[in-house]
Amino acid sequence: MYQHLDELGNPLDLPVGKVVCIGKNYRDHIEEMQSQVPATPLLFMKPRAAMCAMAEPLKIPTEQGECHNELELAIVLNAPLSHASEQEAEKAIGGIGLGLDLTLRDVQHSLKEQGHPWERAKAFDFSCPLSGFVAKSRFNDLQDITFTLTINDEPRQQGNSAMMLHKIVPLIAYMSSQFSLDAGDVILTGTPKGVGPLQPQDQLTATLADTLTIKTQVTG
Ligand code: ZN
Repeated sequence: MYQHLDELGNPLDLPVGKVVCIGKNYRDHIEEMQSQVPATPLLFMKPRAAMCAMAEPLKIPTEQGECHNELELAIVLNAPLSHASEQEAEKAIGGIGLGLDLTLRDVQHSLKEQGHPWERAKAFDFSCPLSGFVAKSRFNDLQDITFTLTINDEPRQQGNSAMMLHKIVPLIAYMSSQFSLDAGDVILTGTPKGVGPLQPQDQLTATLADTLTIKTQVTG
C-alpha cells in the first residue's frame, strides 16, 4: 500500500488523499502540444489509487495507445485548506517532491475531440508515481527549483518552477477555492516540455534540484 515518504524513505505521518493537478502551466509545454493558455487554471484530479512510489518499477497500461511521461513538481499538504489565503496555503506545504503525471495521450486526444472529461487518460491506477518529499526549508525559493528527467541516458525534460504560469502558493490557494483540500493531498504543478511515449524497459532518472535523484524503470 502506498504511503507518503520523506527524502530518506521514511514514512510521513500523513494520510494518502487525492491528487489535484493543473494542466497547461508551462508555456513551452503548451507550445509543444499546439495548445493555448487557458483563461482560468485547468484543474483535474487523480484518485488515491493513482499514487505509487516512483522508485518502484512503473506499471503502465500497454493496450490503450501511448502513455506519456510528464515530470512535475509535487507538493504534499500537511493541513486542510478551503478558500485558503496565500499565507495559509504556504503554511500547509508539507514537502516538495516529484510526480509523474502519466497520461494516456491517445485516449486523451480522443476524449478531447468528443468534449469528454479526461479521467480515463489521467486517473488510472498507478498513474501518479511519486518521489519522497523534501522539507520546504531545503529550498531558498519555491519559484526557482530545477528538475530533470532522463530516459535511457537521453535528457528529456528540464524544468524550473520559475517557468510556471501559475505559481505554487497562489495555485494551491486557487485550488482550495474550487475543492476542499486535505492533509495528505498532493498537488501536481504542471509539466514543462519534453513529454513523449514511455516504452517497456525504459530506464528513468529524475532529479529534484540537488536534493533527490530517483532511478526507476518501466516494467516490461
Ligand atoms: Zn501534467
